[in-house]
Amino acid sequence: MTNQTLGLAQHIYEYLLSISLREPEILTQLRQETAQHPMARMQIAPEQGQFLALLVQLIQAKKTLELGVFTGYSALVVALALPNAGKVVACDTSEEFTAIAQPYWQQAGVADKIDLHIAPALETLDQLLRDGEAETFDFAFIDADKSNYDNYYERSLQLVRPGGLIAIDNVLWSGRVADPQIQDNRTKKIRAFNQKLHQDQRITLSLIPIADGLTLARKNRQ
Ligand code: CA
Repeated sequence: MTNQTLGLAQHIYEYLLSISLREPEILTQLRQETAQHPMARMQIAPEQGQFLALLVQLIQAKKTLELGVFTGYSALVVALALPNAGKVVACDTSEEFTAIAQPYWQQAGVADKIDLHIAPALETLDQLLRDGEAETFDFAFIDADKSNYDNYYERSLQLVRPGGLIAIDNVLWSGRVADPQIQDNRTKKIRAFNQKLHQDQRITLSLIPIADGLTLARKNRQ
């Protein structure tokens, strides 16, 4: 797992940031606080956050889903990109990590846009489906536990509208998916997940080599 774009020489990466990153101060502060955290590598890269914000604006998203909040950077960057009436349904199991997020969401003035559910994400997704919210989301960002990626994807595919977008993080898994010698469970799950999406005719896809690999899957209209 990495929180900067894989495979770029450091000086090129720094140049990329220097001429493209427009990170609001509140996001910089959250990133700096998260950098002190022992699991800081779980945070998305800042250039990736900016890319997610651009995508959300391009598809004119109003209602989004986030699986895996950690310290709240991606929820914050998406919430800032949404219109005033926009909403992020954010799922995480950790009170401890999301407690770091909340003051930043409040300070940024977007706390009321973020509906945080502390529960296993599958439970929240199944509840949303039972509540009749299928095809009401414009965008979903999947970045929670990798062993459940396929379950998160299948439910997200039901919850996003036709033409909506699902973004799935860490699909290159620090390059481990490309090394046939590596056969641990999570690597095998991500590898199988990537192969499944390649064949999945319900979506239009592109795997973007930003950060740790980000697959974009657009739900096709029938
Ligand atoms: Ca991630």
